[in-house]
Amino acid sequence: MDTDSTIPLPKTVQACRKALLNWYDGHARDLPWRVLPVARSQGQRPDPYGVWLSEIMLQQTSVTAVKGYYATFLDRWPGVEHLAAAPLEEVLINWAGLGYYARARNLHACAQRVVDQHGGVFPQTEVELRTLPGIGDYTAAAIAAIVHGLPTNVVDGNVERVMARLHRVERPLPDAKPVLKSLAAHYVFPHRAADWPQALMDLGASICRPKNPKCDLCPLDRHCLATKTGKPDAYPRRQPKAARPVRYGVAFVLCRDDTVLLRSRPAKGLLGGMSEVPNSAWQEKRETKEIMMMSAPVETNWHNVGSVRHVFTHFVLELDIYKGQASKEYQTNEGWWASCHKLDEEALPSLMRKVLAQAGMALK
Ligand code: SF4
Repeated sequence: MDTDSTIPLPKTVQACRKALLNWYDGHARDLPWRVLPVARSQGQRPDPYGVWLSEIMLQQTSVTAVKGYYATFLDRWPGVEHLAAAPLEEVLINWAGLGYYARARNLHACAQRVVDQHGGVFPQTEVELRTLPGIGDYTAAAIAAIVHGLPTNVVDGNVERVMARLHRVERPLPDAKPVLKSLAAHYVFPHRAADWPQALMDLGASICRPKNPKCDLCPLDRHCLATKTGKPDAYPRRQPKAARPVRYGVAFVLCRDDTVLLRSRPAKGLLGGMSEVPNSAWQEKRETKEIMMMSAPVETNWHNVGSVRHVFTHFVLELDIYKGQASKEYQTNEGWWASCHKLDEEALPSLMRKVLAQAGMALK
């Protein structure tokens, strides 16, 4: 049965809101950026800066991975004005390992915009929030609802999954996105506009999980069409994914005494502004060793120390790694010599951390 066009009955909407919010009142996750429902009902409101920071960090990243970074950022830059005044390089260093580095650059640009154009105060409405760097539809809706209690339709992957299951939507993602968004809009609850999206997110994270949902513990089970099929995790339906293409390259770990040569990637594009060891272009075909070595920064006694494989969103990268020793006199204008004992202080993305670890460098 294709239920794409189902509009939930008002009494079903009300019953779902009541059941889910009752569940949330007793099971809300205690997150560092969150005001729990009891405190909220007593008038407490979350810090807009903390909510914004957490929402940017949580894009494509789990709560577990984000918590440590969130604490570090708040400790180092307790307010938006502190973050705006920080050098971008420092922000990137503290973001290293969290991935999707355009987020860090946008985070910094957004902090500066909030300070320069909004007097250090985050705008309230979705429309105004969307004008800021790095804030798209989802994040604008989430900040407007969670911070300001506005009845916005906050739709992330968790909410899509719950709606697809509740209504047993047969249309596969990504085509189903508008349908799922319009279904979610029926449930927005102005009287608890901040709690409603957070309740849905928590349900998606802890009960209506992508695999093996815990339907027996779910407050929405009476209303859920997917659970009646016996295979709720078959929803949301998805179009089969095309295999990720593989690209190949070579990375050069050049040492001089107790230092290693690093350089910055171009500010725009993949891993923009992050640090890296010199490396070749990433190509669709694996070249011969002779051709690959033409990208080496200096002629020296290179030896192969293995390879790493790294999965990006749109492709898989396989890098062969060569390690070499430069003479004490060797000078280069490209990049800088970083202490092998302080590599954790460099803005190294996960890929480069893997490369350096493979070459025997100690990293946390
Ligand atoms: Fe998800 Fe199961 Fe709840 Fe349906 S009953 S919303 S599939 S956890």
